[in-house]
Amino acid sequence: MKHTAEEFEKAAPSESISASALNSIDQCVMRILIIDDDPADSKLCELNIKKVDAGRSVQCVSTGAAALQCLAEETFDCILLDYHLADGSADTYIQQIVATHPWTPIIMLSGAGDERKAARAMRLGAADYLTKDRITAQALNRSIINAITKWGLSRSLHIERRELLAANRELHKQRREIQSFYHTVSHELKTPITAIREFSSLVADEVLGEINPEQKDAMQTSMTCCDRLTRLVHDLFDAARIETGKLELHVETIDLNDLIAREIRIMQSKAAERNITLVSAQDVSLPAVELDPSRISQVLCNLVSNAIKYTDHGGKVSVSVGQDAGHCVVKIIDNGFGIASEHAEFIFDRLYQCDRQDGIETSSDNGMGIGLYLSKKIIELHDGDINVVSRLGSGSTFTFRLPFKDAT
Ligand code: ADP
Repeated sequence: MKHTAEEFEKAAPSESISASALNSIDQCVMRILIIDDDPADSKLCELNIKKVDAGRSVQCVSTGAAALQCLAEETFDCILLDYHLADGSADTYIQQIVATHPWTPIIMLSGAGDERKAARAMRLGAADYLTKDRITAQALNRSIINAITKWGLSRSLHIERRELLAANRELHKQRREIQSFYHTVSHELKTPITAIREFSSLVADEVLGEINPEQKDAMQTSMTCCDRLTRLVHDLFDAARIETGKLELHVETIDLNDLIAREIRIMQSKAAERNITLVSAQDVSLPAVELDPSRISQVLCNLVSNAIKYTDHGGKVSVSVGQDAGHCVVKIIDNGFGIASEHAEFIFDRLYQCDRQDGIETSSDNGMGIGLYLSKKIIELHDGDINVVSRLGSGSTFTFRLPFKDAT
């Protein structure tokens, strides 16, 4: 398209553009590539661009091939591309430029009546299009700045997304490594621990010959340690199963009062070792509950063991069961050391253990910080929930709720 002297005159610096309308990008030195086989059109565009900021760098080429060559050697902030090029279709060049320079926006310059072609160009990746006969300095510069801003934002988003994906991949990798670590460690420990337990038992029971009381005592301690290790190994196994979604529930209809009473009986000797009073309160009107008894026993065992473990000699632990809004509610209350508020929100996380304060003496059974994590997961598998209310120095109340059969 040819331009007249009047048009060049119209594009001269007399037309004013409000600086405030342009954002900060407008302030930097901008490099623009114009691809147009009509030198007059190129010149008019260049004038319009420099009218806003004479410092802008504008380079003009007349063919698509020359443009590709330029782009290979230099970096541009924006490209103005004439739809009608002598050496090929603009569509082809758009595709090539988008593929090699995805973050350099292209603005199509089309003749009047070419709007459909321009729309197609935008589908191929152009940022905007302008009809040549309506180009003013203001319209052209606004379009350039909008295109650069939009492309810049897309680029930041793209980079952030790529970083997020990489972080996500790394997390998945680490998660798989942890799962495999749990599995390998627990598997490798299981057999030797069982063997040590069995041989200790043979010696303690004097199957392999008579031993004196001190030796018997030592064997008993060894067996107790093996039992503790076995529990830890089972916890590791369970954690690996939970992580891989392989922990299955074997649900039965259960009287929760009975289950709690049985668990309390088992835990009495442990409580007695620390001179702790362990009591329970039943709810005789409690309906039967659908749950996996061995898994809920495991949760009760974890919570009551912790209550005993983190309560001073002579303290008290109570377990109560009640009902609320379609749920049975079990509370394990101790008047022990309590949990500092900064730890409370993390204690159900895998491997989380609070720092013990100096002078606090817990039982020797220190654990791994996995019991509460497993408890939470098991309760959630039952569609229930678990929480803790605690104050440092005053004790803790762990509460878990399980839905009744009809409420699910
Ligand atoms: P651990 O094997 O360390 O007991 P848990 O997952 O069972 O692991 O508990 C995580 C942490 O929560 C414990 O290390 C302990 O600091 C804290 N905790 C759990 N129960 C109690 C409790 N009843 N009183 C005080 N602190 C508790």
